Amino acid sequence: MVAVNHALASELGLDFRGARESELAALFAGQALPPGAEPIAQAYAGHQFGHFTMLGDGRAILLGEHIAPDGRRVDLHFKGSGRTAFSRAGDGRAVLGPMLREYIMGEAMHALGVPTTRVLAVVTTGEAVQRESLRPGAMLLRVASSHLRVGTFEFVAALRQEEMLRQFVSYAIERHEPELLAEPSEAVRTLAFLRAVMLRQASLVAKWQLVGFVHGVMNTDNMTISGETIDYGPCAFMDTYHRDTVFSSIDSGGRYAYGQQPRVALWNLTRFAETLLSLIDTDRPKAIERATECLESFAPSFSELWLNGMRAKLGLERAEADDLELVRELLTWMESAEADFTSTFSALAQPGALGEPGALEGAGSSSSANVAALSAGPPREWRLKWRSRLEREGVSDAARVARMQSVNPSVIPRNHRVEEVLSAVELSGDLAPLHALVDALRTPMLRPPRDPRLAEPPPPDCGPYRTFCGT
Ligand code: AMP
Ligand code: MG
Repeated sequence: MVAVNHALASELGLDFRGARESELAALFAGQALPPGAEPIAQAYAGHQFGHFTMLGDGRAILLGEHIAPDGRRVDLHFKGSGRTAFSRAGDGRAVLGPMLREYIMGEAMHALGVPTTRVLAVVTTGEAVQRESLRPGAMLLRVASSHLRVGTFEFVAALRQEEMLRQFVSYAIERHEPELLAEPSEAVRTLAFLRAVMLRQASLVAKWQLVGFVHGVMNTDNMTISGETIDYGPCAFMDTYHRDTVFSSIDSGGRYAYGQQPRVALWNLTRFAETLLSLIDTDRPKAIERATECLESFAPSFSELWLNGMRAKLGLERAEADDLELVRELLTWMESAEADFTSTFSALAQPGALGEPGALEGAGSSSSANVAALSAGPPREWRLKWRSRLEREGVSDAARVARMQSVNPSVIPRNHRVEEVLSAVELSGDLAPLHALVDALRTPMLRPPRDPRLAEPPPPDCGPYRTFCGT
């Protein structure tokens, strides 16, 4: 056993503390099934980089569902458990580094308030798995409010069996939007479902943008109906701010770049809407018209959520017409100055940040990264504008700082730190740095951070960061 997420276990009403390690290892490795579990691999389809493919869980198994004490129903899902009916040429296996990466990123996202699938446990399998080299085999147990994806709808729609589609959509509505079941008209219910999924995705992607998260592989099979982040393959948090940021080694066209994410979400939602057309209206052009009308509200919904999030990051609660311009000017400066995304906002959230550039050194700032970000920080002209905007808000400086420090993290899973802890595990079996990082990520807003080094951007000699799908 490499990691057991006791925090998540207790939220789910599971208590593993009394169990013997060998029992837990057997449970998390799928060798001992919980009573009543009937594991299945799930079929789905997906648009991968724009191209439609029939897929399925090639290396994952749904162990079963669990009902938490608060009534929430979740899927428990193995990843890396071996070949399934959908493995195609793959071995169905996973290796340790990427499984731990999924654990780290999921916990970080959860603590940042971003809806996400999470890892309950990671175990090694004792097998060596062939990748670029022989790597230690591992698997994880993932918790999700369901594994229904846009790609699951595409799979069912591609079968062209109206009754099955109807059953499947009812199931999904019952699972994720049960209040819509009271709606007697199928057309109205289906459109409301589309709208609900669209709003969840708009909110999710707005949250990604606000913390600088780049998913990296927003294929339709990696987009959930629940609005939870899924598939932590090639994802990464941005250090230096730029809209074109891409980490994934296979995304050479930048289709899934940071700045493209809202647009791609809408593209994926359009694929989702297409699967629902026959339930919206038997007259296809009419159905398209109604679905399009619904999707047209994605852009304004997203923009509003994002702008409100940006306002909060800058300490603003009320809305003023010029706020978008204030935010744009800051982002434009950040891009041209190659400013670190997280440190810039974190520095602006410090007491004293409203003073002149350079004033921060004496302000008792805890992190040298923050000082560096601000003393080189946004230009004086922008700061004066921000200051007068805050004056109109009428908050005390202490209240502004408290507000801003509750939404601007100081600690995110920095790529160089994640790589460091993963190498420590793989090269020397040392789990201590991994657990210390996850602990720090659980309180991302803490000031000063438990380990101030974790708040620092990568050293300049780190070079560009590349991620891989982990397959
Ligand atoms: P992903 O890039 O993780 O979204 O995976 C795309 C598809 O490839 C999914 O259907 C996966 O289940 C499948 N897949 C990924 N890795 C493996 C593997 N090692 N063996 C079998 N199937 C895999
Ligand atoms: Mg995937």
